[in-house]
Amino acid sequence: MKDIFCKIIDGDIPSTRVYEDDDVLAILDISQTTRGHTLVMPKKHYESLLDCPKETLTKVMLIAQRIGQAEVSILGAKGVNILANCGEAAGQTVMHFHVHVIPRYIGGEGGFRLEMASQDTSKMNLPVLAKEIGDAMK
Ligand code: AMP
Repeated sequence: MKDIFCKIIDGDIPSTRVYEDDDVLAILDISQTTRGHTLVMPKKHYESLLDCPKETLTKVMLIAQRIGQAEVSILGAKGVNILANCGEAAGQTVMHFHVHVIPRYIGGEGGFRLEMASQDTSKMNLPVLAKEIGDAMK
């Protein structure tokens, strides 16, 4: 069964299109976390950023950058969050790779707070951990 973004890409259900080329589609997020919240996705189906091939990932990220720049220049955004949730544990709800481009304003409605916990690292061996991750990189 097609996921909701595949249906949007195929024109089966409506969306508000911001940008489109042969490989990439950008639409306004239905939730509008802030005014201008946009989703950038490859037209070909990949589950998340983690399984997206390099060439496609580059195209998606370059469009995300341009949309962020446009939002700063014409919407009055003072910053932009560019993020991709990868996997349910990371909060991904639509299993079709997409990048959120969320303009940030000073004050105003909407928005979100990204709070990162700080853990006690005294029981973690950070050099070993770093090597483990580094060695496993493809
Ligand atoms: P994520 O949690 O990273 O998978 O984000 C999925 C996003 O897709 C959410 O921000 C939703 O608001 C958005 N979304 C879901 N359905 C639609 C739709 N039909 N059109 C536009 N955005 C959608």
